[in-house]
Amino acid sequence: MQEFHYKALPVDVHFGVGKSAETKDILLQHGYHKVLVITTPGQEEAGRKLAKELQEICAGLYPHAVMHVPVDVANKAVEFAKESDIDCCLALGGGSTIGLAKIIALKTHLPIVAIPTTYAGSEMTTIYGLTKNNLKTTGKDSHVLPKVVIYDPKLNQALPAKISACSGMNAMAHAVEALYAKDKNPIISLMAIESIKALKSSLPVLVKELTNISARQKASYGAWLAGICLGSVGMAIHHKICHTLGGTFNLPHAQAHAITLAYSVHYNRNADIEAMDRLAEALDVSSREEVGLAIYRLNQSLGIELALKDIGLPEEGPADVARMVCDSPYYNPREYNYDELEGLLQRAYKGLPPA
Ligand code: NAD
Repeated sequence: MQEFHYKALPVDVHFGVGKSAETKDILLQHGYHKVLVITTPGQEEAGRKLAKELQEICAGLYPHAVMHVPVDVANKAVEFAKESDIDCCLALGGGSTIGLAKIIALKTHLPIVAIPTTYAGSEMTTIYGLTKNNLKTTGKDSHVLPKVVIYDPKLNQALPAKISACSGMNAMAHAVEALYAKDKNPIISLMAIESIKALKSSLPVLVKELTNISARQKASYGAWLAGICLGSVGMAIHHKICHTLGGTFNLPHAQAHAITLAYSVHYNRNADIEAMDRLAEALDVSSREEVGLAIYRLNQSLGIELALKDIGLPEEGPADVARMVCDSPYYNPREYNYDELEGLLQRAYKGLPPA
């Protein structure tokens, strides 16, 4: 066995159907008495309901989070938090809402309590992002890791089928890349396999039956594990491709991840044989040659759009992305080969199977 380093994330996790009803008690247990609830405009109503439940410990509602944390939105939120007499940010929402709370935490060192309502996994990481002049930069800081995370699968029932499916596959991408990470370790690999199995079995059920609570539970469980994977080990070629698709071409985050994952794992199918054999087993296919196709078929069954051109990638996109990825690569268990990558991205552009 290879030597490894493992560091657990210091997050208090509360998980359960209906758990968000205990938010006030949990906040008080942690000593928070002046709480600012943060949401997107679309989840303002849910935020208002939560604020009401918090009664006297709620210091206000800030429903202004938007995708990718634009710098002007972040600056206004930081000023608002500084001027308010608060001791905690309570983020109710997906990666965009938690992302805004993270910038407030970065600048003010206020603690975050997160109630995630998608499967993106930001709540389990020290990673933050900020977008200025269409350029998204990311960084890591321990202050942005939420102190407490409350998973209530009931809240995810309101997430539409398409967003649920893509967000779930976004989570699966974190788990998949953790399997062949440069700093992979046995604990995280166990979590990754468990996450992939939980997502693979739950997503097809919940896209057909949005309120199926056992499927929602399993998906939240898988997403939690995937979030730990993302927060614990480095990501590889797939995340590099998706950061380029999002950062340069402004493609929607979760959809870009969902579509591209099939091609990234096909590219890496023979790179880390142990990892890919485990992935094949988790995806229930007989060999690592089939992992890309298995993810492609899973996307198909979930009703996810299959072609990058259908979510906004221009015709020259595949060649541009392949070049940018090869010019400033992340770690990957195999070399970056422009021609092979460009060929696969052309298939992803058209929505053809990876092989
Ligand atoms: P999102 O937070 O943008 O949410 C998508 C939409 O769904 C929003 O309009 C939101 O209001 C709505 N929504 C969320 N939950 C809902 C629910 N339960 N019911 C009804 N509507 C709901 O999407 P996301 O994919 O969770 O987050 C994407 C962002 O998160 C990106 O900017 C990405 O870069 C970032 N991210 C960061 C990390 C990290 O570790 N820092 C990890 C993953 C994603």
